[in-house]
Amino acid sequence: MPTIFTKIVNGEIPCYKIAEDDRFFAFLDINPLAKGHTLVIPKQETDYLFDLDDQLLADMNVFAKKIAVAQKKVIPCKRVGVAVLGLEVPHAHIHLIPMNSEADVNFSNPKLKLASEEFEEIAGLIRTEL
Ligand code: 5GP
Repeated sequence: MPTIFTKIVNGEIPCYKIAEDDRFFAFLDINPLAKGHTLVIPKQETDYLFDLDDQLLADMNVFAKKIAVAQKKVIPCKRVGVAVLGLEVPHAHIHLIPMNSEADVNFSNPKLKLASEEFEEIAGLIRTEL
């Protein structure tokens, strides 16, 4: 049974796509902690991030860096925070969260409710900087 993220990669479930290459995929988190909150995943299905092959993990971070640099240009924030939880979806992923304070990356915070047009606009803005 493919993971929900594999279904997103395959276009079976819609997403607000940020970027893709042959091994990685990035898209907006549907329950964002902040505007621009993005998930970066390997296309290869592996549950736990640190079970990834060393080279794939290293390259995934380089892929994530490009997204973070683009996020920082278009989303007003001090930094882009990086988080790895993986408690909900068993498909390795890195959260990239634009933040102004430590409190912004508290996963117990209520999630933002954004209209589809806002997600589209944010994704489009980030894509313009890639
Ligand atoms: P974690 O596994 O790191 O604890 O959390 C999984 C993250 O994936 C959550 O932030 C959740 O909002 C996000 N997520 C779960 N299902 C979907 C989905 O179908 N689409 C998108 N874009 N994000 C999802």
